[in-house]
Amino acid sequence: MSKHEKAVVVATRGRLFDVRVEDGTHLKCEVRGGVKADADATTPVAVGDDVLVSRSHKKGGAIEKVLERRSSFGRPAKGIEGKLQIIAANLDRLAVVTSVRSPSLKTGMIDRVIIAAYIGHMTPFIIINKTDLKHPDDFDEIVAAYRSLEFEVFTVSAKRGDGMDELKTNLIDHRTLFVGHSGVGKSSILNALIPGLNLKTKEVSSYSNRGKHATTSIELFELPNGGYIADSPGLKVMGLWDVRKEDLPHYYPDFEPFMAECRFKPCSHTHEPDCAVKAAVKRGEIHEFRWENYVAIADSI
Ligand code: GDP
Ligand code: ZN
Repeated sequence: MSKHEKAVVVATRGRLFDVRVEDGTHLKCEVRGGVKADADATTPVAVGDDVLVSRSHKKGGAIEKVLERRSSFGRPAKGIEGKLQIIAANLDRLAVVTSVRSPSLKTGMIDRVIIAAYIGHMTPFIIINKTDLKHPDDFDEIVAAYRSLEFEVFTVSAKRGDGMDELKTNLIDHRTLFVGHSGVGKSSILNALIPGLNLKTKEVSSYSNRGKHATTSIELFELPNGGYIADSPGLKVMGLWDVRKEDLPHYYPDFEPFMAECRFKPCSHTHEPDCAVKAAVKRGEIHEFRWENYVAIADSI
């Protein structure tokens, strides 16, 4: 039997997986028949998995074993109740990428991704791109609001390079998933971070073409100073599949100090009288946009 080497799955290509072996070489691998999915998943091997591989020739080999996942990020498997299709494994951070404008800054998206990060056991942070464009009136307030909630916010311009060094340093040795609407500049940021990558960027007029990607493809890109970024063109809209309505408030660190004072227990903090969360919003102790996004998210579950 050939020697097993540790590797990371960086992409899927049909039934073959592209893995990066610890020595830096890439192999195209099939999966051994004995490798089975976890009980709660339909995906035996996912991008981000740490695996053991054996080489069969210079550029090919087989995945012999999937090492235990530290975290996973998935969505309900089509047609199989209670099982998840794992989109990516072992990512430790989730960056919600937005832009100052075109497309406009949407805090609802930011809040959804923050919740998804908590559910997927990833640390969320925020990247706001296109700072070279005219800022909306509430821009400073929004940035200050998230910073006061202790979320890291990076304001960058992929185009001009502003803020990119700080972001780059922050990404070292992490495995970060980028999520955001198309057009916010994810590909442009990746191109700026990884010399020679040359991902195609899209003009505003051709956004709609991207919606035609039916499958969720995801790929890990190696950062020059260590770490990976996962980008997924198909993950435009982040659904909150796992969250139960009654658990939603617990993903709001800004609601937490007030929740115990609500008259009704449980309280959904949407319509109940004498709701301490709503009172805190009125007093300005919780940002109104955070509560409005919360109500919209609660309605959508
Ligand atoms: P993606 O869909 O999130 O991958 O976005 P792209 O990287 O394809 O960028 C979408 C559009 O925004 C392209 O036309 C880019 O040239 C433009 N863009 C990207 N970054 C910036 C930036 O920092 N400033 C400005 N003004 N435009 C940018
Ligand atoms: Zn309440």
